[in-house]
Amino acid sequence: MEPFVYEALPQRVVFGSGTLDAVGDEVRRLGCTRALVLSTPQQADSARDLAARLGALAAGVFTNATMHTPVDVTETAVEAVRAAGADCVVALGGGSTTGLGKAIALRTDLPQVVVPTTYAGSEATPILGQTEGGLKTTQRSLKVLPEVIVYDVDLTMTLPAAMSATSGMNAIAHAVEALYAREANPIISMFAEEGIRAFARALPVLVNDPANREARSDALYAAWLCGICFGSVGGALHHKLCHVLGGTFDLPHAETHTVILPHATAYNAEAAPEAMARIARALGSDDAAGGLYDLEVRLGTPLSLAEIGMPENGLQKAADIAVANPYWNPRAIDKAAIQALLDDAYHGRRPAG
Ligand code: NAD
Repeated sequence: MEPFVYEALPQRVVFGSGTLDAVGDEVRRLGCTRALVLSTPQQADSARDLAARLGALAAGVFTNATMHTPVDVTETAVEAVRAAGADCVVALGGGSTTGLGKAIALRTDLPQVVVPTTYAGSEATPILGQTEGGLKTTQRSLKVLPEVIVYDVDLTMTLPAAMSATSGMNAIAHAVEALYAREANPIISMFAEEGIRAFARALPVLVNDPANREARSDALYAAWLCGICFGSVGGALHHKLCHVLGGTFDLPHAETHTVILPHATAYNAEAAPEAMARIARALGSDDAAGGLYDLEVRLGTPLSLAEIGMPENGLQKAADIAVANPYWNPRAIDKAAIQALLDDAYHGRRPAG
């Protein structure tokens, strides 16, 4: 066994079906009595329903959570927290709503209960991305790690098939990079391999049968495993590229991860052979990058940057930014190779094995 460092994140997790009914107990368990329920405008009805279930424990709802956590939205939400006299937040939704809860916690130290409805995995990480003046910055702090996650499989039944697929690939990307991260360790690698395996089994079922309970349950469990991977060890080239493409060209988050993942994996293939073997094994493929691409073909996800709104004349700028201040990566960052990677991703070519 190679030497390693492993740091467990302090978090309570409740997983099951019908667990929305447990949110009130979790709020009380934190010693809180006034929860502000958060959601996006699209999930406002679910937030109001949860507030009604919480009864006297609900201090109100704030339903304006927005993708990429804009600071002005957070400031309005913090005012709502103060006006309601809230002593905790309950975030119901995907990564955008979880992000708002974390941003509130950063500013107020209020405890958070997160009820995830996508596979983004933000609920399991001490990482917060925020946007101000068109610039997205990311920070890591235990202050933003949610105290409690309540996973209720029932809430994921409405996640549309296409979003289930891209949200799942976004989560798989956390696990893939965890396997070759600088801080990789055997515990997280175990989570990563199992997360990829469970998603590779569940997602093809879900795109054809979104109401399949067993697959929904497997996918949500996998999302948690992959979230832990991202929260525990760093990302590398893949996350850097997605950060650049999302931040500078405003490409959609989960779709960008989906398109880039096979290419970033191929880029690192020779530098991280053990990680590649584990990814391939989890996918049931003989090649990690090709296996990820083939899974996406089966899922019917976008495969090219072109189809998710990337301007071809922006590729050069993306490459420049990506190499200017790179994350640690197992293979050295070479500008010509990054340009080739982006060109392959732009056209949606299958990575060479
Ligand atoms: P999202 O939260 O923006 O959700 C997308 C849309 O789907 C929203 O309108 C939402 O209301 C709706 N939705 C969510 N769940 C649904 C359901 N079950 N049924 C029907 N509609 C549903 O998307 P996301 O991909 O979950 O999150 C993306 C954001 O999360 C990005 O800002 C990203 O940066 C962030 N993120 C952060 C981390 C982290 O660790 N900090 C990790 C992953 C993602």
